Amino acid sequence: MASRIEQAIADKEILIAESGTGTGKTLAYLVPALLSGKKVLVSTGTRHLQDQLYKQDLPLVRRALEVPASMALLKGRSNYLCRLRLEQAELDQSGYRPYPHVDLAVISKWSLITLHGDVAEVSGVPEQSRVWSDVTSTVDNCIGTKCRHYDDCFVNTARKDAMEADILVVNHHLFLADVALKEEGYGQLLPKVEVVIFDEAHQIPDTASMYFSTGVSQRQILDLCRDAQLAEVAEKSGIAGFEIRVDELEKLAKECRLAMGTSVSKGSWSQLEAVSGFTDALESLKQGLQQMLELLKSAAVTGDQLENCYERTQVLVDRLAALGIDSNEEFIRWYETSKTGFRFHSTPLSIADKFRELVCEQDRSVIFTSATLAVSGSFTHYQQQLGLEDACSGIWPGPFNYAEQALFYLPEGLPEPGDSDHTASVVELAEKLIKISRGRVFMLFTSYRALNEAASMLEGRCDYPLLV
Ligand code: SF4
Repeated sequence: MASRIEQAIADKEILIAESGTGTGKTLAYLVPALLSGKKVLVSTGTRHLQDQLYKQDLPLVRRALEVPASMALLKGRSNYLCRLRLEQAELDQSGYRPYPHVDLAVISKWSLITLHGDVAEVSGVPEQSRVWSDVTSTVDNCIGTKCRHYDDCFVNTARKDAMEADILVVNHHLFLADVALKEEGYGQLLPKVEVVIFDEAHQIPDTASMYFSTGVSQRQILDLCRDAQLAEVAEKSGIAGFEIRVDELEKLAKECRLAMGTSVSKGSWSQLEAVSGFTDALESLKQGLQQMLELLKSAAVTGDQLENCYERTQVLVDRLAALGIDSNEEFIRWYETSKTGFRFHSTPLSIADKFRELVCEQDRSVIFTSATLAVSGSFTHYQQQLGLEDACSGIWPGPFNYAEQALFYLPEGLPEPGDSDHTASVVELAEKLIKISRGRVFMLFTSYRALNEAASMLEGRCDYPLLV
C-alpha cells in the first residue's frame, strides 16, 4: 500500500485505497508522504484523530525517517480568540449576558498574555459556556481586512503558520468548509498543497454534502440578533428602538421553532409545510428579517460591524426566500429540529461534479483511504458519489479472519434509542452475552449519559471486573 501511494504521489494520481483494520494504513500513507518532500495536507475524520496524528504518528515517522519536514496542525476558527469580538463583549454594559460575568473576566485576563489565542489554553471556563460564541469568530461575523486587528489576528496567524508547513494536519470539516467558501469567493483558508490525503475517507460524501448545502438555522438568527446588539453598543447608530426591533426578531425565531412541534425530528420541506401553523410562523419570521434588513440598512453606514450584520441579514432573507421555491430539482429541501432550535437545508442531490472540480481537478495527487470504502469489492458507489469514476483504486485486506473469528448479532425488538427503556434493554442483553463470553466484553456507547447509566446497572450484576 505504501509503494502504491508513493507512486500515486509521484504521478499526481487520484487513488482510492481501502485497507482493513490493523494493516497500519496510517504508516502506509505517512511514510511516502514524508519522503516525497512535497507539501502535504492530511485530513482526518475528527479533531481527536487530528490530535493523535499530529502528536503521535507524525513525530514517530519523522524521527524514524530522519526527514526535516515541518508540521502544523490547523483548527477551525472557533478555536481561536477573536480580539475584535472580545472588545465588543467587554464594552457591552447592557447587563444582559447569556453567561456568568466571571467567564468573560477570565478570558479578558488570558487575552493579555496568550501568544497563540488558542482557546484550549484557557482553564476555568466551561466548554459549553455561551461566552465562547461572544469571543470567537465565525465566517459570517468576521469582518476580515476591515478589522483593525487583522494583522495580529490569531486566526490569520495560525493560517499563515500552516501555509509554511510541509505537512499540515486538518479535519474534514475544516477542509471542506474552506473548499465550499472558496467557491463563494472568499479567500483561500488552507494553503495550496501538492498532496491531499483523506483518512477516514468514508465520511467525505456526507461531510461534503453538508458543506455544499445552504441553509438557515435558528442559531444563525439568534447569533445575528446578539451580534447586532453588540455592534450597536460599539458603533452607536443611534436609531430609535433598535434594541426592541432586534428582540422582536429573536422572539419570532423562537415562535417559529415552537410552531414546528415540541419533538426532535427531521423531514422533508413538504412535511413541514403540512404542520398546522408553520407557514404563518415562517411568514412572520420572514417579515421580521425583512424589517431587520431595513433597520440595519440605515445603521450600516455607522460602522463595519453593523454593515456585516446587514450583509448577513440579506443572506438569510435570500436563503429563506429560495427555500420557499420548489423549482430546482437538483436540490432537496428538508428540515431538522433539536430541543432548542431548527435548521432548514437545501442540499444538492449530487455533489460529484462540484467535489471533483474543487478538490480533484487541481494539479495534485489526492488519496482517499479508509477501512470501509468498497461494497462487495467494488468502489463504484463511492466513485459516483464523489465524481471519481476514473480514479485508481486498490484493496489491502486486514489480517483478521472475521468470517471464522467473529459473530455478528443484531437483536430484534429493542426499543428505539431515544426511548427511556433503551439502555436497560441493551444491558439486559449484554448481561447474557457477558456470561456466555466469560467477560472479555468491550461496550461502546454514543453518549456519556448512556455509558454511565449502563455502568451503574451492570455494577454487581456480573462476576467480572467492570472498567469504566
Ligand atoms: S480579522 Fe476576524 S477573526 Fe480576526 S480579530 Fe478581526 S474579526 Fe476577529
